[in-house]
Amino acid sequence: MEPTERRVLVVEDERAIADAVAARLRAEGFAVEIAGDGPAAVEAARTGRPDVVVLDVMLPGFDGLEVCRRIQAERPVPVLMLTARGDETDLLVGLAVGADDYMAKPFSMRELAARVHALVRRASKISSVGEKTPSAIRLGDLEINQAERRVLRAGVEAHLTPTEFDLLVHLAGRPRTVVPRERLLAEVWGWADASGTRTVDSHIKALRRKLGADLIRTVHGVGYALEVDR
Ligand code: CA
Repeated sequence: MEPTERRVLVVEDERAIADAVAARLRAEGFAVEIAGDGPAAVEAARTGRPDVVVLDVMLPGFDGLEVCRRIQAERPVPVLMLTARGDETDLLVGLAVGADDYMAKPFSMRELAARVHALVRRASKISSVGEKTPSAIRLGDLEINQAERRVLRAGVEAHLTPTEFDLLVHLAGRPRTVVPRERLLAEVWGWADASGTRTVDSHIKALRRKLGADLIRTVHGVGYALEVDR
């Protein structure tokens, strides 16, 4: 079944950029809504229920990081964060508050469209996951309920972003096996190139913070492995 038109919320106060992004995404077949400040973005995410949010960090009202925090708290949705060039802090905080991907300004419209398509593909995989996969994975004290997208470790629930959840499921599908970062990038993020391996690292960091540092082992220069007892 062909899905209905995908909705993208573009949050950017610079009108020229917002209009250019919206025009490109509409040309790619998306329904696009624009919000120009923090409060409007939170409201638009609530009422418009977008499939993907393209979110600038620098906004009037409150900033994109706070927008991300608030919309993720209400309903998990893939977020592509737009950061100032070379602003490491924005990037790291953005990933920590639940952004799934980021691009530094200035960016190419072609690249932006490709990233939005990748996030949508991931989101539709998520919504169909209940039918194809076993609903529960149990590994030692780790419990993953795929139907409800909930995770518990030693009986304590951890609140993961959609990307963190998918990353964990991929690692849990091959416990104690080293999964290369490039493969995680391709399978979880849908990227064909390996330019975003630091995105993988940042999300692994978040998983360790939420589920315990001992859960995921780094294999230097290669990738990551989930370490749990059977
Ligand atoms: Ca801005």
